[in-house]
Amino acid sequence: MRETLILNAGFEPLSTVSLRRAVVLVMQDKAVVEHAHPGLRVRAADVDLPVPQVIRLRRYVRVPFRQRAPWSRRGVLVRDRHRCAYCGRRATTVDHIVPRSQGGGDTWLNTVAACAADNHRKADRTPAQAGMALSVKPFAPTPADALLLALGFRNGEGLPEWLAVPGGPVPVSAPALPASA
Ligand SMILES: [Zn+2]
Repeated sequence: MRETLILNAGFEPLSTVSLRRAVVLVMQDKAVVEHAHPGLRVRAADVDLPVPQVIRLRRYVRVPFRQRAPWSRRGVLVRDRHRCAYCGRRATTVDHIVPRSQGGGDTWLNTVAACAADNHRKADRTPAQAGMALSVKPFAPTPADALLLALGFRNGEGLPEWLAVPGGPVPVSAPALPASA
């Protein structure tokens, strides 16, 4: 299912909508296409326009609240792009940096994506206790980060310049932390 990012009139990411809904908004003149898939077009009876990847509302919509994205295992895997925080290979599991047995919680800052082998090797230990180094710095994604990640944008790469601004997705790759501190 192709999703389109929808921006407020002031370029603030709001939500994602289905391609169908995005096309309708553009056809109804409620939104303009800001970024389209190169070479892909929507063609129907009375429609021929580039497949919108990002659309922007013509009129500003007031957003009632902006809360942090709720934590989820799937969310952690998406945030970390399914890359193991220890070895960089494909991750299918979520590791608690401070294990739950030592009081670590299900939070964005205490969890990272990990491959099954590293998760098993680390077991109920902190990275320092296990002698393992985290190569990423976990962060709590804003709803906007979550949307951009869901759309497949990485570290601003592939984003038009106006969207790759502070407040956009936080780089996932960070300098390696020492194994023990
Ligand atoms: Zn690994």
